Amino acid sequence: MSSTRVLVLNSGSSSVKYQLLDMRDRGRLAVGLVERIGEETSRLRHTPLHSGGETRESAGPVPDHEAALKAVSAELAKDGLGLDSPELAAIGHRVVHGGKRFTEPTVIDDTVLAEIERLIPVAPLHNPANLTGIRTAQALRPDLPQVAVFDTAFHTTMPESAARYAIDVRTADEHRIRRYGFHGTSHAYVSRATAELLGRAPEEVNVIVLHLGNGASASAVRGGKCVETSMGLTPLEGLVMGTRSGDLDPAVIFHLVRVGGMSMDEIDTLLNKRSGLTGLCGDNDMREIRRRVDEGDERARLAFDIYIHRLKKYIGAYYAVLGRVDAVVFTAGVGENAAPVREAAIADLETLGLAVDAELNAVRSDEARLISPADSRVAVAVVPTDEELEIATQTYALVGRDRGAGSERVGE
Ligand code: ADP
Repeated sequence: MSSTRVLVLNSGSSSVKYQLLDMRDRGRLAVGLVERIGEETSRLRHTPLHSGGETRESAGPVPDHEAALKAVSAELAKDGLGLDSPELAAIGHRVVHGGKRFTEPTVIDDTVLAEIERLIPVAPLHNPANLTGIRTAQALRPDLPQVAVFDTAFHTTMPESAARYAIDVRTADEHRIRRYGFHGTSHAYVSRATAELLGRAPEEVNVIVLHLGNGASASAVRGGKCVETSMGLTPLEGLVMGTRSGDLDPAVIFHLVRVGGMSMDEIDTLLNKRSGLTGLCGDNDMREIRRRVDEGDERARLAFDIYIHRLKKYIGAYYAVLGRVDAVVFTAGVGENAAPVREAAIADLETLGLAVDAELNAVRSDEARLISPADSRVAVAVVPTDEELEIATQTYALVGRDRGAGSERVGE
């Protein structure tokens, strides 16, 4: 029997998101989510897409990641898709921080696990949860290749001039302080899909990608390779986000300690959880903010304006970094859905060859599409991101290579 399925796992500290894909047609067989792991009120939501089945929800305590994965496997098994299936070729794990070393998806062994663990100091929120997910999956299917796909990998092509902060080099190196960037799987997928939309090879195309979700980041991609991105040592740097501040003078932190009497943990929470759109107007959902703006709410208006102002600064900066730009592309929850954000971010940039066609911009669609006028010098596009498909594709390509040309069962 051929093994053509890949399970994609995105393990957070209290949740596991998963998708099972069949790589023959890249179709989704099942998707789901376990939330609030470790609490009394855990919940599992599972949709068996291949059979067109209804979404199933179950509640009840799920004490840890092992229990969560077992519950996922039990749900998959109800549709004949369990983790023990010989058709499963590999498990692809989203791993947030791969440091400088992991420039590509990597088959996980003990050395790789140790390295992901060594990176915990620079990714204290994410890497421990990713590791738990990997170890649990390994325990359930020790014979199966497990692949780590790193959020940072796409950005490892950034030149030192973009990756280094201008601080004392020895201190930076000692503590591995540099700009790593995140959302790399999305930036990779979307920049390639944009080239496809333009009917050109990725190597020929320069693209500015704006990944605007709850977390948000921009990247400048030259000929398929990332040369600059807005997130840094952590996902806090750069654009205004749902709850994160993005760029700020680091002296704000000294000030909050010395004058505000705040602790480091309090400031961490302030900048990561109580800032961005939430900090500015109390809402982090762009739908709600737009509704309030339309009703004349001044705080929501200011939050929107600050969000757009920062976005415009990055478009301008990345235009200068790239020199020649073929496309500016919007993706993720806000980028794919919020036409007013796209319109405002591109407004008044005609001198850069950028414009948005109001009618095209208003169209709602799940397809990759152009929203610039036909005679525009630079394309403006909306390209839905698909990080799970990208993780599955990279995982399957890697495992497929290991298996040689054949598609027989891995691990035999
Ligand atoms: P995450 O970073 O959590 O993966 P997503 O990429 O799913 O986030 O983006 C979530 C955000 O997308 C929401 O917080 C909301 O601001 C925005 N969003 C989703 N749908 C719409 C919509 N129809 N209009 C405007 N904004 C939207």
